[in-house]
Amino acid sequence: MPEKVQIRAIKGVRDILPPESGRWIRVEDAARKVFGTYGFGEIRLPEFERARLFERTVGNDTDIVTKELFTWIDSPKANRALKHIRAEAGKDAGKEIDPRLHIEEGLLREFEDGAFDSLHEQTRVCLRPEATASVVRAYIEHGMHTLPGDVKLYYMGPMFRRERPQKGRYRQFYQIGAEVLGQSDAPGIDAELIEMLFAFFGRVGLEGLSLDLNSIGCKDCRGKYVEVLRAELVKVKEKLGADSQRRIETNPLRVLDSKAPDEQAIIETLPRISDHLCEACKTHFAEVRRQLDLRGITYNLNWRLVRGLDYYMRTTFEIIAPGLGSQNAVCGGGRYDGLVELLGGLPTKGIGFAIGEDRLMLSLEAAGKLAVEPAVDAFIVWMGAATQATAIKIAQRLRGAGIKVELPPEEFKFKKALGLADKLGARYAILIGENEIAAGKFTLKRLADAVQTSVTEVELIEALKAN
Ligand code: AMP
Repeated sequence: MPEKVQIRAIKGVRDILPPESGRWIRVEDAARKVFGTYGFGEIRLPEFERARLFERTVGNDTDIVTKELFTWIDSPKANRALKHIRAEAGKDAGKEIDPRLHIEEGLLREFEDGAFDSLHEQTRVCLRPEATASVVRAYIEHGMHTLPGDVKLYYMGPMFRRERPQKGRYRQFYQIGAEVLGQSDAPGIDAELIEMLFAFFGRVGLEGLSLDLNSIGCKDCRGKYVEVLRAELVKVKEKLGADSQRRIETNPLRVLDSKAPDEQAIIETLPRISDHLCEACKTHFAEVRRQLDLRGITYNLNWRLVRGLDYYMRTTFEIIAPGLGSQNAVCGGGRYDGLVELLGGLPTKGIGFAIGEDRLMLSLEAAGKLAVEPAVDAFIVWMGAATQATAIKIAQRLRGAGIKVELPPEEFKFKKALGLADKLGARYAILIGENEIAAGKFTLKRLADAVQTSVTEVELIEALKAN
């Protein structure tokens, strides 16, 4: 007998079970409906991609890429060569060689100069940590720039980041996102995208949201601002923690993201991007705000909202939801003109957002907005072998009419059947015994108050549909 072992899910990932999964479906349906009315179509993307795609776009300096990617080399040959290199390096360092490393003398000689590096690079893949880069890759790959008007796409599905798990932060989490790609960067696009988000949140019943808004400028003015910021940060370096000190060199904007309590007063004194925007960015941002006003959308200006990823420019925004504690950003987004070019496409403008679906569900739950739909409308209690055929037929008809029916696969004792109907939360029991067969009718019992009526098949379907 093999040893019994219980295999559990990996830390930071979860199963979503019914009835909870039913609520997720409702939220996703609402997204599809609302986004559809704004002219968006769904794009279904692969869940793994070349690691390079994210390294180039999200940025080599970001946590997502440096620490959180789940990567592997998808080539047995490259893997064997890599083991060989490691073993050789171990030998050089005077270490004993792990016998599991099969050293194939000559394997590396098969590769010309640099050929191993390129095989390694080409075959290194990862689970996607986000989907904007994938959408942009697909946009280029399928020549979508030739489509008429702006290309408006939405997606939903799992993302993967090797983060420290906590409430509202998982290693496999779910995003619902949308992107607009095309030739125009009209501020009305930014505002309409945000309007669509609020329409969606309204539809699922999430209230008390706040929108944080900022402009982080373009390549030119942001570059200059970053230098001003860096110079100021150098002056206060000693007062900052290790993370922020490192970021002065690698990514000074990220210092503004810092939540460290003793850094807050210092950060408040730092130069602000709004004072350094170029004329074009200033005008664009003013117009985004006017377009939001036109739509009756209120926002807080948050000069520290820089968003972690490299590809953002100009408009950035975040939506904060109640009931989430420290992980309270339920949606993040922004403009990324230039990302298509970075991946080898033609000059293109782009803007998008990603909603954290896990957090959205937590917030809806905290607000008591997750009504459970009954899993069973009607439980059929059939008694006597001769009644089973009728029970099967009526179950089929009711299900055909969209009614949720539970049909015991074998005859249950009357009490057991009713008890189970109750436990399953069924609203009605349909009783079929020999008397019913003889009368050509069914007994419909409302379980909440035990009221019983005798009904024909047509009346039965009508009664259950009406509820
Ligand atoms: P980002 O792609 O980092 O801008 O994230 C967009 C949204 O996804 C955030 O506002 C969160 O709601 C959600 N999100 C990001 N990382 C996680 C995670 N590890 N677990 C759950 N939700 C996340």
